[in-house]
Amino acid sequence: PARRVAGMGSTIFAEMSALAVRTGAINLGQGFPDTDGPALILDSAVQAIRGGANQYAPGIGIPALRQAIARHQQRHYGIELDPDTQVTVTTGCTEAIAGALLGLVDPGDEVIVLEPSYDSYNAMIAFAGGVRRPVTLRAPDFRLDPAELAAAVSPRTRLLLLNSPHNPTGRVLDAGELGAVAEVAIEHDLLVVTDEVYEHLTFDGRAHVPISTLPGMAERTLTLSSAGKSYSVTGWKVGWATGPPELVAALTAAKQWLSYTSGAPLQPAVAAALDEAPDFPATLAVELQARRDELVAGLRGAGLATYSAQGTYFVTSDVADLGWSSGREFCLALPERAGVVAVPLEVFYDDPDGPGAGRHLVRWAFCKRPEVIADATRRLMAADL
Ligand code: GLN
Repeated sequence: PARRVAGMGSTIFAEMSALAVRTGAINLGQGFPDTDGPALILDSAVQAIRGGANQYAPGIGIPALRQAIARHQQRHYGIELDPDTQVTVTTGCTEAIAGALLGLVDPGDEVIVLEPSYDSYNAMIAFAGGVRRPVTLRAPDFRLDPAELAAAVSPRTRLLLLNSPHNPTGRVLDAGELGAVAEVAIEHDLLVVTDEVYEHLTFDGRAHVPISTLPGMAERTLTLSSAGKSYSVTGWKVGWATGPPELVAALTAAKQWLSYTSGAPLQPAVAAALDEAPDFPATLAVELQARRDELVAGLRGAGLATYSAQGTYFVTSDVADLGWSSGREFCLALPERAGVVAVPLEVFYDDPDGPGAGRHLVRWAFCKRPEVIADATRRLMAADL
């Protein structure tokens, strides 16, 4: 293989899901729901296939979906977008991340990321020839330190890659942290690419605030999201990017050489869901909050020091108190010890042994049916961890 991919191995999610399949363990590793999205979105896709929406869609997405995405941003956040120039459809948010970095980062440019950081960010920064500058969110509260953020900026900084609600920590950045990001971005004239796929999956009455809605930010922010998390169709891979025309165009310029265009029959179905089931994600968030509570109680009951989540599908535990120095070792032993799979956080850090980094942290997904969470917690409580 080329050097570009040789050192990268396989994604931790594929590795841990394969471990779950091989051992028959309950998979709380990779974040995907075990129940499908609303009948409306599923039926719409079937109808679209039967109705002949099976050839290439326009590269930027079908007009109906771009319009529905623009209406979504208007309805939830009061953001006004021209669906023809400020919205582009991608093959999941993962392709939006790829397109954004390939379209906006030149070799040698520095990209600031929150760490622990979702693994595809690091891969795509590397593919783009960019240089990653992590700012660590530290346990127990995973807050962004404005001073550390400011210190990460250099004359080579091009872009700040934000993610809130944050995978894997479950943190939702608050007004103060978002304000600090905006201040740094404006002061140093940085672009912001923000992954907001968990925008609707926030808990305890917390509202998600898109950074693009802060003063001076709309013109420098590319906002990414997808239908996968909001409508429980993670396998559909329908995502999007919204923002100023020139940033959207840069992403689209890269996307046309990646997937060229995204799945045609899924696009009218996602448009229908956004328009006709706008409340589904909020209902899902209420259910997820209860499952989070069940899982956190079960993990703590099993003796695991666990940090709860303000949003996303995930909570994290620190396995150091149980005598494990490596989350990875813990996760590899877990199927045999307890019949459960989790994901170690160490792959999400530049230096997992650095100050405040999480060699000993593991992530659990609670986007599973209540009986599955109950079964997993029973197993963990009965196990010798
Ligand atoms: N976003 C999901 C997670 O964090 C799935 C990741 C993946 O499979 N690449 O678990």
